[in-house]
Amino acid sequence: MCITFLISSCTSTEKKPGTMSFTVSMDQPWTHYYHVEFLCDGIRGEALDFRMPAWTPGYYMILDLAKYVINFHAEDGDGNTLHWEKVSKNTWQVGVYDTPVVRVSYDVYAFTQSVAHPFLDDGRGFISPAGIFMYINGYLHHPATVTIKPYQEWDKISTGLDPVEGSSNIFYAPDFDVLYDCPILVGNQEILSFKVEGIPHYVAQETPADIDDQKYLTDLKAMVESAVSIIGEIPYKHYTFIIMDRGMGGLEHANSMAVFSGSRYSLSDPGGYKRWLAFLAHEYFHLYNVKSIRPIVLGPFDYNRENYTNMLWFSEGVTVYYEYLILNRAGLLNREETLEQLRRSITNYENIPGHLFQPVTMSSFDTWILFFNRSENASNTTISYYDKGCALGMLLDLKIRHATKGEKSLDDVMRTLYYDYHKDKDRGFTDGEFRNVCEDLAGCSLEEIFEYASTTKAIDYPKYLAYAGLQIDTLSLVIPGTYLGVDIREIEGTPVITNVVWNSPAWLAGLSPRDTIIELNDARATTAMLNNILDSGHPGDTLNLLLGRRTGRKSFEVVLDKKILKSFRITPLDNPDPEQLTILNGWLDN
Ligand SMILES: [Zn+2]
Repeated sequence: MCITFLISSCTSTEKKPGTMSFTVSMDQPWTHYYHVEFLCDGIRGEALDFRMPAWTPGYYMILDLAKYVINFHAEDGDGNTLHWEKVSKNTWQVGVYDTPVVRVSYDVYAFTQSVAHPFLDDGRGFISPAGIFMYINGYLHHPATVTIKPYQEWDKISTGLDPVEGSSNIFYAPDFDVLYDCPILVGNQEILSFKVEGIPHYVAQETPADIDDQKYLTDLKAMVESAVSIIGEIPYKHYTFIIMDRGMGGLEHANSMAVFSGSRYSLSDPGGYKRWLAFLAHEYFHLYNVKSIRPIVLGPFDYNRENYTNMLWFSEGVTVYYEYLILNRAGLLNREETLEQLRRSITNYENIPGHLFQPVTMSSFDTWILFFNRSENASNTTISYYDKGCALGMLLDLKIRHATKGEKSLDDVMRTLYYDYHKDKDRGFTDGEFRNVCEDLAGCSLEEIFEYASTTKAIDYPKYLAYAGLQIDTLSLVIPGTYLGVDIREIEGTPVITNVVWNSPAWLAGLSPRDTIIELNDARATTAMLNNILDSGHPGDTLNLLLGRRTGRKSFEVVLDKKILKSFRITPLDNPDPEQLTILNGWLDN
């Protein structure tokens, strides 16, 4: 009764007919099943197609979330069963014959630990909405309410959705794009909070962080303020950091993020803490770059199939670039540390053969089949748009600053795209529009940088870093030891090759991923022995290997090569001129 009243009160001003309301329960979380009831009142037609999204925005992979659905059932308002049939892998077509009320129910198995999948166990419920809430085809713009019935031992619900006034467990979404953008954490999480410009920010942590709360909140606030200052406005009424226990990855949303506190981040260690803050800055800044400032296909979305774009080098890679700038401007990363982070992105990109084969625009376009489906050969043929995009972001920023004598920067590009496209035009930008904005602000052609994006042409880092009075070490240094060109994983004491680097001595000699190394120079092989041979040997040495593979045991001779290091270390030039110093000081705080 109360629920009905609240639903009608919040949707009464909507022009759209009917109401849609979900109720999600989780009575036995250890079974990993959510029970979902979807009540549609006044949505009329001969047949309605209930559809589960094939993917969730930000996680560019077809997940086929419909595969976790069982016990689909449909009935009318009097409890009469309605006939349904599946008409595609993710579509349940229900014959409703103009009946005013349709109740659909189903169960969702949720036991995948990922920011893009629902999860439920006796510790938490993570409602990744695209895996829980079906939409009715043609009704993505319809508002909906969500009632969460937590497991009896849980009393906290954290989400970016607005609560319905007077309720703590009923939420309102003005349309399904918002609904799918608002994950929900249910459990006994600790909830900390701080305010920026009077706007509440909630930090919902499944496990309290191993760090002083006040310092943590002060740093998060500084991070948020630094990011906000780039664009100049906060577009939400509240923001929620959903932080789950150890796991991998994070996913951005317009007024929340869902992240795992991965094993990479030991918050009590200063380096680990800074990496953690950079990770949060990345997901946070996405509320601007990708949720608002976005390639034209990335919102509104087609939830039924891949949404292809060449521009993830900008949406993701430049967000990596801004992670470091945001922390630098917040006083959380000094200039040297910031340059070190940029160096890492450059070396990650330059040190894999894939940079000779795959342009970053193609890396973006093909992310649907490559990014989460890496083969053992991936680093030979593909690159990460996070790494190269970060490098190109730096180049764009330095070029614009140089061309405008420090008057303009990449920040102006972000603001222009935010206000002119997201706010005024209410849409994303095409590839051409993006380039025009950059070149208009720079006042010159940026042909070279866009060529770096669409080709594998070698990047002239020294030229761009010199604009800021910096130099980068691109020399190939020969270092002690020898080079074979394989990655190894030891399985039950035996080294197994997991990757053979393109054109390396191992590649040229015919070694292959999945080869088991049985003997090295006629002795039983271990990983330690291999490392020792490579470290203590000399270029030109011959290494004899006995390998096991599908076609039997085989002997190989490999001539070891020089070991080469390109550091890409970025350091100040000895005598920068005033213009270079102006750009450097405008770019990075000391
Ligand atoms: Zn990202």
